[in-house]
Amino acid sequence: MWHGNWRDRVWSRLDRQWDMVIVGGGITGAGVLRLASRLGIEALLVERRDFAWGTSSRSTKLVHGGLRYLAHGQIGVTWESVRERERLLEEGPGLVERLGFLVPTFDGQSPSKRSFAVGLALYDLLARKWDHRYRSRQAFRLLAPHVDSEELNGGFCYYDAVTDDVRLVLRVIREAVRNGGTALNYSAARDLLFSADGRVNGVVLEDLLGERTIEVRARLVVNATGPWSDELRAGFGGKPLLRLSRGSHLVFPAWRLPVAQAITLLHPTDNRPVFVLPWEGATVAGTTDLDHDQPLDDEPHMTPRELDYLMTALRARFRPLDLRAGDAIASFAGVRPLIGSGSGDPSKVSRGHSVREERGMLTIAGGKLTTFRTMAVDTLRAARRLLPDFPLISPDVCMFDALDGGSLASDEIGQGAQLRLEGYYGAEAENLIASARPGELELIPETPSLWAELRWAAGQEGVGHLDDLMLRRVRIGLLLPDGGRALLSEIRRVVQDELGWDDERWQEEVAAYAQLWDSAYSVPVLFDSHTAP
Ligand code: FAD
Repeated sequence: MWHGNWRDRVWSRLDRQWDMVIVGGGITGAGVLRLASRLGIEALLVERRDFAWGTSSRSTKLVHGGLRYLAHGQIGVTWESVRERERLLEEGPGLVERLGFLVPTFDGQSPSKRSFAVGLALYDLLARKWDHRYRSRQAFRLLAPHVDSEELNGGFCYYDAVTDDVRLVLRVIREAVRNGGTALNYSAARDLLFSADGRVNGVVLEDLLGERTIEVRARLVVNATGPWSDELRAGFGGKPLLRLSRGSHLVFPAWRLPVAQAITLLHPTDNRPVFVLPWEGATVAGTTDLDHDQPLDDEPHMTPRELDYLMTALRARFRPLDLRAGDAIASFAGVRPLIGSGSGDPSKVSRGHSVREERGMLTIAGGKLTTFRTMAVDTLRAARRLLPDFPLISPDVCMFDALDGGSLASDEIGQGAQLRLEGYYGAEAENLIASARPGELELIPETPSLWAELRWAAGQEGVGHLDDLMLRRVRIGLLLPDGGRALLSEIRRVVQDELGWDDERWQEEVAAYAQLWDSAYSVPVLFDSHTAP
C-alpha cells in the first residue's frame, strides 16, 4: 500500500478539491478518516511527523472506562468509555485484549475498601456485566505475590482491556486507505487557507521528507491535532482551548517487575492511581500527570521529578522487589490534550471530548484513545450539519473491517501469535506472513514481534526514519535495553533494502535514533536512594 514511491504518487494527486482534509494522524484523525471513507467522503489525512507520533503512541495502552473518573464525578465519560471498551473488544480481538486488574487494599487507606466496592459496582453496572470480586489477603497474595503484604488486607479484581496504541492507529488508517481514504505522514499543515468570506477552505501542506509545498483545498478541514489543536486555531486568532498535561511511564523487564495482571496502586503521597501492567512481554508503570512545560514540538521526555514520583510508589508498594530506577529499561512520555484551562490538579480535568466549529473548520479535541470511535461519529455528525449532502452516520458504525477469524492458519506460528497478527494487521496479516523470508517467522529476542513484521513495516508501512520502525511499527525501542541498539546490525540485514537506504543514510539514521532515544526514551538519572544499590 505504502510501497516504493507511494509518497510521490499521493503528492501528484493532491491538487484538487477534497471533501475533507483531516490534520493530525493520531487516533482521533485516524478514526475520522476511517468513518469518512466508510461514508464515501473523499478524505485526506495529513500528519506532520509519523503516524501516531504524538500522544497516540505514548498512552498507558489501556482501553478502559477509567475507574478514577467516577471518583471525579465524570460518570458520562466512564459510561461512554466502558461501552466503547466492550465494543472494541468484540471488534478487534488480538488488538484489544481483556486484562485483569487488581487493586490491593491496605489497613486504614483512603479511599476505603467500601468506596472501591461501590465504585466497582457502578463501573460494572455501566458496562452491564458483573465482573469484579473481592479477594481475601491470602488469595490476593497468590495473585500478586510481589505486592507488599504488610498492612495488606486483600484486594479487588476487575477487568478492563489493553492494546498497542500505535498498531490501533495504523490498523484504522490502513483500513481507511483500503476503503478509499488517503493518508500521508511527514506532511505538515503549515497554514490555513480561507475563502473570500473568511471560511477555512484548505491548508498549505509542506512535505518534510522532500522539498515541496502545495495548497490543498477542501470543503471541510478537520483539526485533529490533539495537543497542537490551538496552534492550528491560532491561524484565525482562536482563543486557546486546551490544558496540556504530561504523563510519563517506565518500562521494566518482566523478570524484574513481574505482574500477571495489571495492578492499580494508590500513590503513597497523593493517592493518585498508578498502573503497573504487563505489555508486550514487559511491564509498564505509569503515569504522572503534570502541566506540560516542555516545548511542544520537542519529543516529550520524563523528568527526574517524575521518575522520583513513580519510583516512590513502586518501591513502597512492591517493597519485596527492592526496585531501583536503574532496573527500568526505558521511559516514555506523552502530552494529554485536555479541554480546559486554569489551575488545580490536572488529573481532575475532564477526559471528555468536544467538537467545535469555527470559521467552517471543525476541531475535535480532548477525549481518550478508548473513545476514538464516538469522537469520530460526533465529528462526522458535525460535518453533516455544515455540509448536508454528506451521508448520515450511524452511531453504531463499526470501526474495524470484519475478519474471517482464524483465516491465517500458518503452521509456522502459534495460535496466540496468529491472533495477535490478525489484530495488529487485520486482513494484511496474510500478506505479511507470505512476505517473510526463511527464519523471519521467529520472534525477535525478548519481544513478541516477528522479524517478518520488521520486513513488512520497512517495505509497506510508510517508514520515514529509523525511529518510526523501532518505536512505532514494532515497539522494540521500548522493550530492549538501549532501545535495541545491540540488534541493529541484524535488523539492518532485514530492512535496509526494503527501506531503500544506502549505507550512508543507514548510518545517519542510526546516529539520529541513538540521540533521540538517549534524550527522550532513556531513564533519567536520579542521584538518590532509588538508584543507589
Ligand atoms: P495525537 O495522538 O497527539 O495526534 C495528533 C497528531 O497531530 C500528532 O501526531 C501531531 O504530530 C499531528 N499534528 C500536529 N500539528 C500538525 C500539523 N500542523 N500538520 C499535520 N499534523 C499535525 N487514553 C486511553 O483511552 N487509555 C489510556 O491508557 C490512556 N493513557 C494515556 C496516558 C498518557 C500519559 C496520555 C498523555 C494520554 C493517555 N490517554 C489514554 C489519552 C489518549 O492517549 C489521547 O487522548 C489520544 O491519544 C489523543 O489522540 P489525538 O489523535 O487527539 O492526538
